[in-house]
Amino acid sequence: MSESTFQSFRDLTALRGCVAAWRAAGERVVLIPTMGALHDGHLALVAEARRIGRRTVASIFVNPTQFGPNEDFARYPRDLDADLALLARAGADAAWTPSVETMYPPGFATRIEVAGLTDGLCGPFRPGHFAGVATVVTKLLNQVRPDVALFGEKDFQQLRVLQQVAADLDLPVEIRGVPTVREPDGLALSSRNRYLSAEERAVAPKLHAVLAEIASASRSGTPVAGRIAAGRAALEAAGFRVQYLAVCDARTLVPVERVDGPARVIAAAFLGRTRLIDNRAV
Ligand code: AMP
Repeated sequence: MSESTFQSFRDLTALRGCVAAWRAAGERVVLIPTMGALHDGHLALVAEARRIGRRTVASIFVNPTQFGPNEDFARYPRDLDADLALLARAGADAAWTPSVETMYPPGFATRIEVAGLTDGLCGPFRPGHFAGVATVVTKLLNQVRPDVALFGEKDFQQLRVLQQVAADLDLPVEIRGVPTVREPDGLALSSRNRYLSAEERAVAPKLHAVLAEIASASRSGTPVAGRIAAGRAALEAAGFRVQYLAVCDARTLVPVERVDGPARVIAAAFLGRTRLIDNRAV
């Protein structure tokens, strides 16, 4: 697909017409939901989408309902023109950039809540966050009707929550994860990294380093509590304010005391005002 045929939609009827024409031609459609401020992590999702399907739609929507009252909704980075240029260059076919009014017209009253998977990790620290994500992504899936939707493993709890939503609600879509893209020093790419001061940016890769250490030390059968305590202490000594650091069952996200199956070491920590999350397979 050449850059010149890239299309950007702000009107749902027009978007649906475009996708319907692709479907009528038998083309597989892949959706990549984003909040914009795109970086190479997002573009890795576009590359994966192009590998698995014929048509790629990226949505850009800073979803107000997934931000808490004291979170960064107002200052979240927004640069639509730059994002559209990046998507076109990366070979996406279309961008879907709905307004808040399109997504949440007056009288909007539905919320999708996922029990269990949202009880731990980010759940208690971000009340309402996953309901906001589950609801908006369900809407995006119904608007675009993709065959596959791609999400980064960087937001591992989000990925698992959305897989649960799709299974529970019989959504006719496959929810797939894509490995985390990192800076050369290990820091996971994130739109929020631009909030970091130079000093904070220098310290930030420590989060990944601690996760990698715990992941490689958490051999099957050995208790993980000591490693976690040491990792938390190392992060706090480096200036992080740790919200959680845990080794979890990769499917249920319930913390485990010893590893005996697929597991993930997952953390959230503040550096100054910036909240970073990251995870690694054990
Ligand atoms: P966001 O715009 O932050 O909501 O992210 C949109 C999608 O990109 C989500 O599925 C994220 O998990 C994914 N994503 C964000 N950062 C990365 C990264 N560093 N590597 C891979 N995927 C990412």
